Amino acid sequence: MNTNSLVVAGGGIAGLASAYAAGKRRLRVTLLEQAPAFGEVGAGIQLGPNATRRLKKWGVLNLKTLQPSEPEALQIRSATDGRDLGSLRLRGRVKTHYGAPYYTVHRADLHQVLLDAVQACEDIDIRTGATVRNCEVTGSVAWRDGFGDYLERFDAIVNAQGIWSQIRTEALGGVAPTWTGHVAYRALVPAAALPEKFRQPNVGVWLGPDLHVVHYPVRDSSLFNMVLLVEAPSRAPTQDWSLSCDRAEVDHWVARMHGSLRELFDAVNAAGADWRLWALAGRAHVSSFDELYDDHLLHVGDAAHPMLPYLAQGAAMAIEDADALGAMLTRYPHAVKFALRETARMRWERVRQVQDRAKRNAMIFHASGLVAAGRDWAMAMGKEATIDMPWLYNY
Ligand SMILES: Cc1cc2nc3c(=O)[nH]c(=O)nc-3n(C[C@H](O)[C@H](O)[C@H](O)COP(=O)(O)OP(=O)(O)OC[C@H]3O[C@@H](n4cnc5c(N)ncnc54)[C@H](O)[C@@H]3O)c2cc1C
Repeated sequence: MNTNSLVVAGGGIAGLASAYAAGKRRLRVTLLEQAPAFGEVGAGIQLGPNATRRLKKWGVLNLKTLQPSEPEALQIRSATDGRDLGSLRLRGRVKTHYGAPYYTVHRADLHQVLLDAVQACEDIDIRTGATVRNCEVTGSVAWRDGFGDYLERFDAIVNAQGIWSQIRTEALGGVAPTWTGHVAYRALVPAAALPEKFRQPNVGVWLGPDLHVVHYPVRDSSLFNMVLLVEAPSRAPTQDWSLSCDRAEVDHWVARMHGSLRELFDAVNAAGADWRLWALAGRAHVSSFDELYDDHLLHVGDAAHPMLPYLAQGAAMAIEDADALGAMLTRYPHAVKFALRETARMRWERVRQVQDRAKRNAMIFHASGLVAAGRDWAMAMGKEATIDMPWLYNY
């Protein structure tokens, strides 16, 4: 048994995955999550083969709990005139090319798979209702729960508090996340409530000026997840993932879409859509490894490198972070601080690249005029090669 202790602040995907990676290396791990209990939160998440390969390697890919859908293809169309712009075969092809499947899942199911794995590790102490108030680069963590205030010392700290992490803001000299000008509207409806023609086993993407729409099945295809992403700079950012929103706000954007896409929105509304709003905040992209690490402290997941969801890689990057942490703890079992530092070294260029490409996709997806015509032409000429991303999935 390794006698080193590590605290993980935050029990989202990044926190659970990091706790698991460290717990498997027999470190004494304490996981502090502010929510009083883990619950059914979030909606759909796409998991590319760079994520599923790692979950499989860790032995946590429990399909009964994850209830993944494995889409046949990614189909890209114009939101303005309904034209087919391109497609990429996913089922079968992704497994053959990248050695792991492409899944679409409910965030709560991915969270549960990781929570089950963490709970099965005897060296991990999970504390819910535990809010981290402060943490020092010396390894001291101040936290509070319903019973009192605590100050504990650990050999190392992993900050997985998500984008609004106050630890991250302090580490960056008080610089808080800023508003990106992008908003996601999300709805999750029972697939059975949709007309047959909309229950396709695909990831559908519709591109238009200042907006795009993504939809896919989740939870063994029993649910249909729909997201409308728009550029609406006048809105203010919110910390809540799931604010209720007025349907008129969604309708405002739908009015400019092609009839076939409007019909899909009508069907989703008729199926009982309860639209939720998620106003996206961001940070300056990572520019060096020491932004991710400071002595005892490593930042992971959205706390470290929030990104626009235009590559569908937020959860995957959190899983990659944890995998790198596990590899470094295996390599340096008795030098935990050094292992954290090496994790940051290993990760920063990768996450920077993914942040940059996600931002670039915003420009490409939401283009109009000549840029949009160039994009459409490139997809028509390059076919699958233009859409596939070996640099991302082979990692
Ligand atoms: C409620 C919720 C719903 C989401 N829904 C979706 C979705 O539908 N689709 C999608 O693509 N992505 C969703 N995401 C984002 C996606 O999960 C993340 O981008 C990605 O998984 C990276 O996760 P993370 O663990 O770094 O951050 P997060 O998922 O934000 O997790 C951070 C965790 O830290 C906890 N925390 C924060 N501050 C403290 C503190 N002071 N002390 C203790 N704990 C603290 C939070 O309660 C949270 O559990 C959601 C995130 C959340 C929190």
